[in-house]
Amino acid sequence: MTPRQIHYKHSTVNLYEGDFNDLLRKEIGPRQYVIITDSNVNELYLAGSSFKNIISINPGESSKTLGTVSDIYSKLMEMVIDKDTVLVGIGGGVACDITGFVASTYKRGLPFGFIPTTLLAQADAAIGGKNGVNHRGIKNAIGLVRQPDFIIFDPRFLDTLPENELASGFAEVVKTSLIGSPRLFDLLENNYTRALSRDREILAEIIAHCIAIKAGITSQDELDCGQRQVLNFGHTVGHAIEAAGNLSHGQAISIGMMMAIGLSRKLCGLSESSAGRIKSLLMKFKLPVEFKSEIIKSEIIKSEIIKSEIIKYEVKEVISKLYHDKKINGDTLNFILLEEIGRPAIRKIRADELMEFLTRIIH
Ligand code: ADP
Ligand code: ZN
Repeated sequence: MTPRQIHYKHSTVNLYEGDFNDLLRKEIGPRQYVIITDSNVNELYLAGSSFKNIISINPGESSKTLGTVSDIYSKLMEMVIDKDTVLVGIGGGVACDITGFVASTYKRGLPFGFIPTTLLAQADAAIGGKNGVNHRGIKNAIGLVRQPDFIIFDPRFLDTLPENELASGFAEVVKTSLIGSPRLFDLLENNYTRALSRDREILAEIIAHCIAIKAGITSQDELDCGQRQVLNFGHTVGHAIEAAGNLSHGQAISIGMMMAIGLSRKLCGLSESSAGRIKSLLMKFKLPVEFKSEIIKSEIIKSEIIKSEIIKYEVKEVISKLYHDKKINGDTLNFILLEEIGRPAIRKIRADELMEFLTRIIH
């Protein structure tokens, strides 16, 4: 089977779609391999299969640390693997990021590939070669850019994805449409019911759009020196909200995007009707669109993974987190705004300007 390919300056990524069991066996051939996954995905898709050499990590963002990476290095040492051994990340963004990081650093680099199993990972995280871990509460503080050799897309994984993970993925999908494709935005508006009901055909179409957009942007600016920044739309404030509250990544960036849209209305002439369309599309995907603690709390209660955790959300924490980021980046933040749906603009915004704006709209 001839794969589709993404060409980067120094590497080519092969993309396959279909049954991951068959495709993975073909891709690996006679080589040694080690699978890195999380315990949920392991249980659902790998236990009982004939795949061996599985390293399973705890599910969730809290595993994206140097500690997990170090444990995996130790296991690889015990397994005594050679330089041609392929590392295969099977799971969501967390398992894929960890795999890319370990594969890029262990023995100064092993071949690796991803089998993304969440909507977020299929439509976004698996593409572009960013492999990182969190450190001291800062997301992706440590990492590098290195492309996988292959990515296998198997649409069946999405059947078992929890509702809140699906919604999180749709936030990233909407983001991709806003920065890259009015056509995808229209497709989402016209087909959100089918998408929410996990209709495979429409999900495949949506994911294909996202892959094409992300591949286009990241192959032009692989090392994130310019245009790639547009992929951070909604993420500056979103990451701060995610760190301060207990929201999922998608819920946090949905609110982050709405804030960026407010700023875009003010500074970039984004029309009121487009802002309204974006808000209602996010709401259709059951994503929060306002920065209100009450709304956030109810979202938290609905969300399965975090309902047992204490709600430690504080508006002030969000603002101080942004301030912290600002200190890292100097006096201004590069903020991604929208002139129109599909037309992003990179603007430098002074931290005090942003604070003033946020303070006015945060309730
Ligand atoms: P992402 O960064 O892609 O949002 P994570 O790697 O944090 O995702 O995974 C989110 C959660 O979903 C984890 O608990 C993971 O075990 C679980 N998960 C991943 N893929 C599937 C799947 N196909 N079916 C069910 N649960 C899944
Ligand atoms: Zn994101």
